[in-house]
Amino acid sequence: MAMISTYLTPSSQLSGPKSSTAASPPLFSGLRRSSASLSTTQSFFHSVNSHTLRSSSSSNRTSRGIVAMAGSGKFFVGGNWKCNGTKDSIKQLVSDLNSATLEPDVDVVVGPPFVYIDQVKNSLTDRIEIAAQNSWIGKGGAFTGEISAEQLKDIGCKWVILGHSERRHVIGEDDQFIGKKAAYALGQDLGVIACIGELLEEREAGKTFDVYAVPSWDNIVIAYEPVWAIGTGKVASPEQAQEVHVAVRDWLAKNVSPEVASKTRIIYGGSVNAGNSAELAKKEDIDGFLVGGASLKGADFATIINSVTAKKVAA
Ligand code: PEP
Repeated sequence: MAMISTYLTPSSQLSGPKSSTAASPPLFSGLRRSSASLSTTQSFFHSVNSHTLRSSSSSNRTSRGIVAMAGSGKFFVGGNWKCNGTKDSIKQLVSDLNSATLEPDVDVVVGPPFVYIDQVKNSLTDRIEIAAQNSWIGKGGAFTGEISAEQLKDIGCKWVILGHSERRHVIGEDDQFIGKKAAYALGQDLGVIACIGELLEEREAGKTFDVYAVPSWDNIVIAYEPVWAIGTGKVASPEQAQEVHVAVRDWLAKNVSPEVASKTRIIYGGSVNAGNSAELAKKEDIDGFLVGGASLKGADFATIINSVTAKKVAA
């Protein structure tokens, strides 16, 4: 059982949203394995100890020349359609995606609103898998307005996006609740795209992202989505994203296992578009993207998917 948490310490050492790499790496506290033994349907909030990026293996990595792929997982690009679309606009988007030429070595997933999942499932190429944007914490029943992991499986979803910042900061979901959802979804063999990422004021106050427990690291993609970059047009610089991704991977290596660190895809989300994805993809710990706005345009989403070629060239 492990959980994700990182708190950046002094804000003066952080690279802010508009700047590029900090000259000296910021201090982080990390992600650590819980000592408690939890069932697959339990999770809980857990505080963590501080450690510094300087003392982590990331400091060695920066001096290693360009290696574009630190992890061993396949490049992964998800499109989060949020609460957008109509039957007609989604028909058009699916048609654009079906006719796009996509690089073969990328896992591609789209997350339509619940009510359009069936339409998308029945019309979209099998090349692209389907994610839900949320799921309930347990088995279905008398939970008005909720959708269970079993129902998602039944309708052909392979993935669920959990902990998105809009669920945390607009709807008010906390880490404990998200952790329960993640545990339950994983237990039902859904892949989980687990979103983490800090508000601007949290970053400025020295904190990056929140904590929730997960029962296993199989079938999880971690999406680092700084909230200040989501839907704002303020994309994190490749260096800012890399800085956090490497800290997450280092934490996994130290606290879970080197194998999990290597195989877990750590993807970036926050104002990724067809114009900036290639530069981001070149960073060795960026294993793909979670895309909001630009995933609603088939051609742009295809360009983002195909930015895997920039990673291959960089390698
Ligand atoms: C998102 O919603 O996950 C997201 C990253 O949105 P956008 O790409 O629009 O910033």
